[in-house]
Amino acid sequence: KSFESLGLSRGLVESVQLIGFETPTPIQEQAIPVLLNGNRDFVGLAQTGTGKTAAFGLPLLDLVDDKSRDTQALVLAPTRELGLQIANDLENFSEKVKRFNIVAVYGGSSISEQIRKVKKGAQIIVATPGRLIDLIDRKAINLSTIRFVVLDEADEMLNMGFKDDLDKILSFTPKTKFTWLFSATMPREVRAIMKNYMTDPFELTV
Ligand code: AMP
Repeated sequence: KSFESLGLSRGLVESVQLIGFETPTPIQEQAIPVLLNGNRDFVGLAQTGTGKTAAFGLPLLDLVDDKSRDTQALVLAPTRELGLQIANDLENFSEKVKRFNIVAVYGGSSISEQIRKVKKGAQIIVATPGRLIDLIDRKAINLSTIRFVVLDEADEMLNMGFKDDLDKILSFTPKTKFTWLFSATMPREVRAIMKNYMTDPFELTV
């Protein structure tokens, strides 16, 4: 299988090839065609290092409209390091393709600077749950236009005590959104998120 065969836009295929990805990893091969439809919740049981950032990132970049400044996608990650990594990967995948404002929102760094960037119109926000709650409480962020929520390393987020934050964040997003959840393990707490917030998800284990 090749990246060309997965249904991604030509520009994105060229981008990943320029980055040096020659063939899709198993999760990319199986998840990308499903996620590109943009019409179903999704659960991927996958370890880190399997290429899951591109597995959700590439379809997201094709689905999000760069002509609109609305915040259309929210990616939640357990740590600042992972959030920055994801935001950086999304920038690299998209820089030659679409003009996106991708903003990373995380603790331990100036909140006013992050608010300023978000207010300029971020189509994609990558956030740690705690800091995102701060922005929501300050009414600095509008989640009503969200079309896609990605929960990356969902088990880690729950292990770190973000359950209440996740509940609050998900309750602020529109019912019409689609949720893509990735987790290395499937403990009861992750099952509960699926049960409470997702409808008939496509489930993939790699
Ligand atoms: P991730 O699981 O998304 O953190 O990716 C793990 C590592 O694999 C990262 O360094 C990626 O840049 C790299 N990677 C992801 N997909 C591919 C691919 N299709 N070909 C080569 N390297 C990849």
